[in-house]
Amino acid sequence: MISIVIPCFNEEAVLSQLASRLVAAADQWNEPWEAICVDDGSRDSTWTRLEEIARSDSRWKLVRFARNFGHQKAVSAGLAHAKGDAVFVIDADLQDPPEELYRFIDKWREGYEVVYAVRRKRKEVWYKRMCYYLFYRGLSLLSQTTIPLDSGDFCIMDQKVVSVLREMPEQNRFIRGMRAWAGFRQIGIEYERHARAAGVPQYTFKKLLQLASDGVLSFSTIPLRLATYLGLAVSSIAFFGAAFTLLQRWMGDWFASIGLAPAPGFATIVISVLFLGGVQLVCVGIIGEYIGRIYEEVKGRPLWIESDTVGIYPAAMGKEGPNHLRPLSVNSDSIRKAS
Ligand code: UDP
Ligand code: MG
Repeated sequence: MISIVIPCFNEEAVLSQLASRLVAAADQWNEPWEAICVDDGSRDSTWTRLEEIARSDSRWKLVRFARNFGHQKAVSAGLAHAKGDAVFVIDADLQDPPEELYRFIDKWREGYEVVYAVRRKRKEVWYKRMCYYLFYRGLSLLSQTTIPLDSGDFCIMDQKVVSVLREMPEQNRFIRGMRAWAGFRQIGIEYERHARAAGVPQYTFKKLLQLASDGVLSFSTIPLRLATYLGLAVSSIAFFGAAFTLLQRWMGDWFASIGLAPAPGFATIVISVLFLGGVQLVCVGIIGEYIGRIYEEVKGRPLWIESDTVGIYPAAMGKEGPNHLRPLSVNSDSIRKAS
């Protein structure tokens, strides 16, 4: 069986089109399939629309989050529920065309455990394209795991890889990185990323920035080392500066003869103090970013909370044994009673 994981956040405009195109494409595969839609706390009629789809076609399974937990957690929840031998991750907005999915299945049948999509072209505004371009190059410089360039979450994964991802308890999830980290036989397929079929992008600039920093900080400790290098570089410059100033004071006459007479060094002091202060703040900030993430992990909260499901049982706490890091599920009745 093939599972298709679809995170949906305020996607009412696109769902009927998605359902018809996906069903048409999937019925050609000659494989049983299920679609798992995760409603990431939508504020529009996404859930009602999804329920309508699921009512008429039991291959559609639904999960509803108690609030907006973000795309990466929605995908994780979908993966937690996916029973298929291979699992697709696609966006709801049809930027990843369902008609192309069979190419991924072919590669998977050839024996690749991960077949990810590489964007040949993006239909986005130029500055967004430039940011993506720079981010992926910067990430590959910094990251200690080789993460393929220009590949998003759109992919098919073997159940083996999915179970590895399920076992990874981190809060700050960067799925394309975790997927690369897992290893196995991986291959990229080029495709053209289409424009959104309907609706507006749900990834705000803030969410993209969050994702980018998760990508770098969860896969690299180089920024921490960078802080050390920066500190060392600046201290050595400061050391030479201090030596120069001292010499200038001791051998004032000689320095004056070559045109470097000691001046009342107010500007120098202000500049060096500000500069050093800036560098220290940057370094403290970098360390703080990591500590913040450690704190998130240490709290050990559930990654997401499911308030409703259709066609599947909630991702129960500890299918594989009790584990407080597993997604917590409550059904809507117990929520109502509690409140
Ligand atoms: N999405 C989500 N939660 C969010 C933001 C987005 O589940 O908080 C889903 C959204 O419904 C879509 C996918 O993630 O299926 C990609 O989002 P979007 O199209 O807005 O991002 P972009 O294509 O601009 O990167
Ligand atoms: Mg999109």
